Amino acid sequence: MFEHIKAFAFDIDGVFTDGSVMATTDGDLLRTYNSKDCFGVRTAADNGYPVAIITGGCSESIIHRSRSLGVTDRHLYQLSKNKLPDFLDFCADCGLSPDQVAFVGDDIPDIPALKAAGLSVCPADAVAEVKAVCRYISPYNGGRGCVRDLVEKVLKMQGNWRFDPTTPWSAKHPDSVLKNALLTGKNIK
Ligand SMILES: [Mg+2]
Repeated sequence: MFEHIKAFAFDIDGVFTDGSVMATTDGDLLRTYNSKDCFGVRTAADNGYPVAIITGGCSESIIHRSRSLGVTDRHLYQLSKNKLPDFLDFCADCGLSPDQVAFVGDDIPDIPALKAAGLSVCPADAVAEVKAVCRYISPYNGGRGCVRDLVEKVLKMQGNWRFDPTTPWSAKHPDSVLKNALLTGKNIK
């Protein structure tokens, strides 16, 4: 089920995270990500796999996090209430059939996109309705390795699980981010 996948699309809350959000007094929501998941996604992007984030959330920090994962701004879909059109837009923009794209989600709003995807995936702690429609249920929970599990399986099966330490993390960031890193001495993680 992993060998035909050419791109990945992910929900965030409950997939990249354990579903927890910290509500700040200014109205923003803070999330904790898993570095192993993030390394996996960045490795996929560096090896030529398009990656989309399709989330109902909206936050400045999501933009920064997505960029650091190798997700282009074009493929970051925030405030996505109906995820199916956004998933199909991502597939079309990549010139891929939905059959060639994996979608990972954990809750009810993800189900239409999961049903359209070539590989439907959920974390072990997804809601029952999502588990019922997914072809692959990761043994790992959201925010605890389910993203890494999928990406590593696909890339290894296709002989693309490669890490090039000479490629700078910032290679895919826009010029403005690179300039900021040069000016401040801080690179984006
Ligand atoms: Mg979710």
